[in-house]
Amino acid sequence: MIFDVVTLFPEMIQENCSFSILKRAIDANVIEVNTINPRDYTLNKHKKVDDTPYGGGAGMVLMPQPYVDAYEAIPKKENSITVMLTPQGEVFNNTVCEELKDYDQIILLCGHYEGFDERIREIIKPREISIGDFVLTGGELPALCLIDSISRKVDGTLGKIESADNDSFENGLLEYPQYTKPREYRGLKVPEVLLNGNHKEIEEFRYAQSLERTQKKRPDLL
Ligand code: SAM
Repeated sequence: MIFDVVTLFPEMIQENCSFSILKRAIDANVIEVNTINPRDYTLNKHKKVDDTPYGGGAGMVLMPQPYVDAYEAIPKKENSITVMLTPQGEVFNNTVCEELKDYDQIILLCGHYEGFDERIREIIKPREISIGDFVLTGGELPALCLIDSISRKVDGTLGKIESADNDSFENGLLEYPQYTKPREYRGLKVPEVLLNGNHKEIEEFRYAQSLERTQKKRPDLL
């Protein structure tokens, strides 16, 4: 799986991919994360990538030329998708994540400042994705959310020990409560059923707990 991220702040992406599970997946060639900076594609001598909006208003808008040229310079694989991170897109969730993990290449377009000149959308025609109904300063954090959650679903990223099979949303339910040592902490005991080694009973208990907490916290999922 290749992630190509178009961003004015490549360090934000690279830094965040240099820890823990993502770093391991990159080192093991399970995923690849590249960055492309539109500033390297400017044709003006001051390397300007943004300008004031026509019609007036606050903030700066990303100019089409450097952005589109940067995008077009990326070698495209056959099974590739381009995603624009924008608060105006469909809201990202586990179902969208499942769909995206089947591509071999995901090109992520990060905006900044006031966002994209509309012609960037019109020319590239990306799928537009939001990570929620709020506005961030840039698309880098949303891009990292996609890279992280999609990578977890790519074979080889998670070891058996971190397996995602029972994670929340995987079966349409929230995950059951988890416990580790000690058996008792501040008077709170680990449920007896988890200690008895009876796998059928443990499975039944966890399923019932998953149902109960989904009903309580996210009834919309049921
Ligand atoms: N003016 C734009 C609007 O109101 O739709 C918002 C621009 S925002 C300040 C700058 C950039 O951050 C966007 O172009 C986008 O790439 C990213 N961004 C902000 N919030 C986001 C969200 N909820 N989901 C995905 N990307 C987001």
